[in-house]
Order: sequence, then C-alpha cells, then structure tokens
Amino acid sequence: IQSKLPHTGTTIFSVMSKLADTHQAINLSQGFPDYDCDPKLIALVNEAMKNGFNQYAPMPGLPELRTLIAEKVSNLYGANYHPDTEVTITAGGTQAIFTALSAVINSGDEVIIFEPAYDCYAPTVKLLGGLVKPYELAPPNYEIDWEMVKKLFTANTKMIILNSPQNPTGCTLSEKDIKALTKLTKNTDVLILSDEVYEHIIFDGLKHQSIALYPELRERSFITASFGKLLHATGWKLGYCLAPEWLTKEFRKVHQFNVFSVNTPMQVGIANYLKDTDTYLGLSAFFQEKRDFFRSLLSETSFKLLPCNGSYFQCVSYAHLNQEKDTDMAVKLVKTHGVASVPVSAFYTKGTDHQVLRFCFAKKQETLEKAVERLMKL
Ligand code: PMP
Ligand code: GLN
Repeated sequence: IQSKLPHTGTTIFSVMSKLADTHQAINLSQGFPDYDCDPKLIALVNEAMKNGFNQYAPMPGLPELRTLIAEKVSNLYGANYHPDTEVTITAGGTQAIFTALSAVINSGDEVIIFEPAYDCYAPTVKLLGGLVKPYELAPPNYEIDWEMVKKLFTANTKMIILNSPQNPTGCTLSEKDIKALTKLTKNTDVLILSDEVYEHIIFDGLKHQSIALYPELRERSFITASFGKLLHATGWKLGYCLAPEWLTKEFRKVHQFNVFSVNTPMQVGIANYLKDTDTYLGLSAFFQEKRDFFRSLLSETSFKLLPCNGSYFQCVSYAHLNQEKDTDMAVKLVKTHGVASVPVSAFYTKGTDHQVLRFCFAKKQETLEKAVERLMKL
C-alpha cells in the first residue's frame, strides 16, 4: 500500500516511555501522574458497574455528565452550551480532536498550527488531505506575533488550532492574544479548534482564556477537553467536545461511526464525582506546588529553566552547554543519567531544534527529587 502518512513515525511519547522502561529510567517524558487518582472516584466507578451501568451509553454521552459539563462551563465562562446538542463525551481529548478535524477538514484546506505543538494535530490534518501551515515559535517565551499569523492566512485557511495552557511549552494565551485572534478572523468563516485539556492547570493567578469566554469566537469553535488531566486518570481515556449546534451536528456524524459512544460506568462515576466542584477547582494550586518544587530543584542543575505558566510540563534549555541534537541529548539522559524527557524538536513539523527538553512534573515529590539528583551530575 501507499502509506497515508509516509513521514510519520511512532509518537515520541511511546518512544521515550519505552526507552525509559528499557533502561529503568525515571520517566518524566510522557505526561501522566505516577500517583493514583482519588479512591472516591474509583469507588464511584465500581459502584456504577455493580449497579448495572454496563451497556452502551447514549451516542453523545451520558446526559447527566453532559449537563454537569454545561453547568461547569456556564459557571466558569458564562457560556451556554446546550447539553443535548452542544456537548459530546469522547474517548479522551485525542478522539475529540480527531473527530472535530475529521468533521470539517477537506482536501486542500489549510490549518494554522502554532509550533511546538502537541503531536496529534499535524498528522490528523494530513491524513484528511489538509495542509499544515505551521507558525514556529521560539524559546524562551514562545510568544505569538499576530502580524506573522496574518501572513499565513490565505483563501484556503479553514482552521486555526489553539492550545492553552500549551503542551509542551507551558505557555498560556493572554486576553491580548485572543483579541488579536478575534480581530484577525472577524468577518471570516475560519474555524477554531481550541484544545483546552489543561484549562484547570494554570498558575500564579493567571486566568484561563477559554474560547468559551468569547461569544464571537465560540460560535465557530470546537473546544476539546480531557478527564485524564482533570482526574489524574490518563488511562481512562475520556474527554469531551463543546461546539455550537451546527458544528456538533457534524462532529456527531463522525463520532457515531468512529466510536459510537464511550465507556458507560466511567461516565456514571465521573458524573457523580464532579458534582463536587472542589475536585477540579483545586487542581491549579496542587500542580503549582509541584511546579515550584520541581523548579527549585532544577535551578541547582546546569539547565536553564524556561517559563511555565500552566500544564504539567517544565521545559529546560541546554543551548548554553552544548549544541547536541535534543533527540541525542534525551537519549543520553536516559542511558547515562537514568531520566527520561521529551526532546521538543518532536513537536515541530520540520524538527526544529532549539536544544530544549520537556519534563513532566505530575509526579510524586520523591520521584522529582530522585530525578533531579541524577540530573545534577550533568
Ligand atoms: N491535547 C494535549 C495538549 C494533551 O497534552 C493531551 C494528552 N495528554 C491530549 C490532547 C490528549 O488527551 P487524552 O489523553 O485525553 O486523549
Ligand atoms: N499528553 C501526554 C504528553 O504530552 C501524552 C499522551 C500520549 O501519550 N498520547 O506527554
């Protein structure tokens, strides 16, 4: 067969986690907690199974869960998404992204992506026959020059993908960014995919700039989210998509034949768990403590710390130490220091290398301590 993705290899997360396992390294590469989720949540899922919630959920998701999500978004961002027609439960953020793109991207459509970018966007666009228009951002601040974005717009621009707080950089979009985006896309029908999986992991009192806050944008936007981040349960692979009715209609046309519906007892358990909003409203403080702890440890190493305003990733630069390729540096750290990271060049379609590595700090205190102890020897 002719490969549909001839230039796509195995995702860097699998590659680095496997390497970490092989060398019994401390795995700060793939983003997942090394501590368990709340036992109350596990009990609620067990209870749902025992109570017979073991058959198909409705195609768009459990109504109670959709209603809770709509309430959460209304309380936090003042946006009204109708649970029946504008909220869909998915098999994680990844399926929400894949489905949203599949629903609207046609051959030849151009999609603007800010890089470094989470690694599923570009291959999905390509798979659909779309063209990726990357805008490369650079360390230390990865800030967006909206005049440059403007230059990427053509008659074929179909969509722009946002991700704030951002993976891998930990940067966040400001109100000024959103205003610039609004101005740029005014009177156009350019769609937005806003990947907001880290909406509840944002630091130093910054306000998450959800697209749901902006009526003019949200009427042509998909917002995707993940319960994996919200509940410290990345292996459950549940998430959701918010979109106005006209887009949700198209989204569900794909969703119904992609997965039809997703895990019932977990949806029941999560719905019961999320009735208590403290479960997610304390997440920023929880991770800010981890970020501060990790940064204070790392400041003793020879790495240069880059800013981290959100997400559970800390990037470091070693450009002042050597010009080794970041992929080589990441392998070396595993093999000779026993710590796995992700080379940030993996998040650029052209493989641009700024000698930056990403570490996940959703880890126990002792894991972070042990890892940095090893990195001291660098
Ligand atoms: N988007 C971003 C930015 C992510 O970091 C992740 C995963 N960690 C996802 C989407 C996918 O989420 P999920 O694991 O729920 O598929
Ligand atoms: N989002 C996680 C990360 O950035 C990994 C998700 C995955 O392995 N697909 O590391």
